[in-house]
Amino acid sequence: MVDLIPSSDTVMQMLKRTGAFREGHFVYPNGKHSPYYFQMPLAFRYYDTARVLAVALSRKFRVDRDISSQLPKVAVISPSSGGIPVAFGVRDALSAEQIYWAEQENGKRMFRQYINQGEVNPCIIVDDIIRSGHATEETAGLVKQLGSRVIGCGAIVKFTSADSSLEDTPIKSLVEFDVQMYDSGDDCSDCKKNAPVEHVRF
Ligand SMILES: [Zn+2]
Repeated sequence: MVDLIPSSDTVMQMLKRTGAFREGHFVYPNGKHSPYYFQMPLAFRYYDTARVLAVALSRKFRVDRDISSQLPKVAVISPSSGGIPVAFGVRDALSAEQIYWAEQENGKRMFRQYINQGEVNPCIIVDDIIRSGHATEETAGLVKQLGSRVIGCGAIVKFTSADSSLEDTPIKSLVEFDVQMYDSGDDCSDCKKNAPVEHVRF
């Protein structure tokens, strides 16, 4: 089953082809510069691509005995709207019973569903991309408040600068990417070459 997971290179080719990954000279809203930009929803507008990516990620959870032994009494949770297509795809592939997603409202992350204490199965948190890991950490905090626990965590792409685990749970991903962020234009190699800048949002 493991050999059915596409390689990191294959996944990157899919992201490039769909426009979800671009190379250039990008400036982020926080002023950081990078030669790379990910816009993951662009990959998920194609149903077949979305499905291949989500099924591949689901296989990383399926081979984990702790997780597979608890199926189908598992909840798949997305920390944000970007992760919703991943969460639905992973849920489908694993036949997990529950699905939840969180959103930021007035700067506070909360679940869109009204959830009662003790109602949530052990959780797998999935997202399209893990940049800093803050969203997954906040979501894990919500899961604990509801009296449940995190048994898995993963994303299609994970930046190497983010933690490799969420407390004791290793973070699984199809691609580990070194995004080469520069704090300002002073350190940026593209600025030194006077390459035209594209301002992007996260
Ligand atoms: Zn620059």
